[in-house]
Amino acid sequence: MTLIGRADLHIHTTASDGRYTVQEILQHLQTRHPHLDVIAITDHDVLDASLWAYEHQSRYNFEVVPGVEVSSRGGHILALWVTTPIPMNMPLAETVQAIHEAGGLALLAHPFHLEFDVVRANALRYLTQPQVLVESGLDGIEVHNSGILTPACNWVARVVAQRLGMAAIGCSDAHTLNAIGTGVTRWAGRSAASLRTAIMTNTTTAEGTAWNISDYIEYLQTELFSQEKPSLASMSSSANAPSAPQSGVLPF
Ligand SMILES: [Zn+2]
Ligand SMILES: [Zn+2]
Repeated sequence: MTLIGRADLHIHTTASDGRYTVQEILQHLQTRHPHLDVIAITDHDVLDASLWAYEHQSRYNFEVVPGVEVSSRGGHILALWVTTPIPMNMPLAETVQAIHEAGGLALLAHPFHLEFDVVRANALRYLTQPQVLVESGLDGIEVHNSGILTPACNWVARVVAQRLGMAAIGCSDAHTLNAIGTGVTRWAGRSAASLRTAIMTNTTTAEGTAWNISDYIEYLQTELFSQEKPSLASMSSSANAPSAPQSGVLPF
């Protein structure tokens, strides 16, 4: 089976804590990243930019999956193929159920990213009780996250996914233009529909590299800027809009 498709399913915009607007990102992809067949804009708890990308995808030479990165009590959950808000701060299984009821797939992002408070709080539980991940109904795990600072965290996620027989995805978690495509999911197809089938049948693979140091610097500049004025997300009319990024907390 030849894995011809390339998808980056975890990209942030200025709608949450990303550095660039959705329009800038899509134009960048159109001109600089023709090798991505499918992308997803997954801002923290806001769908606005993702839905804009989804609705305007015919302008571009790649497909767009609508999605959002949901802040749950069980960590960050990538909700893909959803077009309606998913409530924040619910337990893992309830979040997964809400995503499924919205017609989407639920994938656990960077499960062992120890630099991030909410994730660290759950990492030990997922290591000692990995069956929790299967029982929650998750459709897969992000086993490559390019923004992660400790590569071993990706390695642990990959081992856990393999042992549980869960689908694996690779993503950039890009907050800058240059980071887009540094993590990809591969599958035997090129369409978003075939990608969804591949995730559901556990026939995807994940690969990628790390962010460039310039991407971390550029992101930190965004963080400093966001502390000087309210973030776009906090000004959103969405009831599920997150608060501004916390000082001293890394992205993802
Ligand atoms: Zn995250
Ligand atoms: Zn993220």
